[in-house]
Amino acid sequence: MSPDRTLEAEREQVVEHAPALARLTPGMTGNISVRNGDRFAVTPTGVPYDAFDVADTPVVTLEGEQVAGEMRPSSEVPMHRHIYRGHEDDPGAIVHTHSDWSTTMAVLREELPPIHYMIVAVGKRVPVAEFAPYGTEELAVNVVAAMAEAEASATFIENHGLVVVAADLETALEHTTHVESLARLYLQASAVGEPVELDDEALDATIEKFASYGQEE
Ligand code: 13P
Ligand code: ZN
Repeated sequence: MSPDRTLEAEREQVVEHAPALARLTPGMTGNISVRNGDRFAVTPTGVPYDAFDVADTPVVTLEGEQVAGEMRPSSEVPMHRHIYRGHEDDPGAIVHTHSDWSTTMAVLREELPPIHYMIVAVGKRVPVAEFAPYGTEELAVNVVAAMAEAEASATFIENHGLVVVAADLETALEHTTHVESLARLYLQASAVGEPVELDDEALDATIEKFASYGQEE
């Protein structure tokens, strides 16, 4: 039988980038996905990040039906579905981790204020979504609501971890690293003093600057 090539490029991306998660989140926690239209490729549930291949990688529809992949998909499929359903084309990728510093914020149930200009990668603050057991529709709804209310592309989840949404997987991973670093800076600064927040004007000016950041195309 010929191999199933459903969403092959997206499944390859998941397999290629999954090992990066091992540095960000303990054990088999966390998950990543890449969307294309009304389907997405997602990490399998309860499998080490270097222990699956493209044929194993599940493909799930936005309705939640698995249409390809030998392994069972992440338990957080409802969260990935709800986030993607709220957007037409973008976002194209989601990264969920239990990374240490972000999860410290999640345990404190404290949002991340704009204490550094790099926050604009994901918005003007990182909110905290209300707790519900992992993998539930309720948690998915809480996550979407928190990001919408804060106009952010990332949210902590109470007593659980972090979710980041972006246009592609590399960006979602990069933004996860930024939020993780900012959470650490905030907690370190809070331990010795009172971190100073940037005001709206400074954040808007930073967003404008970023429009032309990097090498010319
Ligand atoms: P999965 O292994 O099912 O993706 O679950 C990990 C997790 O972080 C649940 O929130
Ligand atoms: Zn989790």
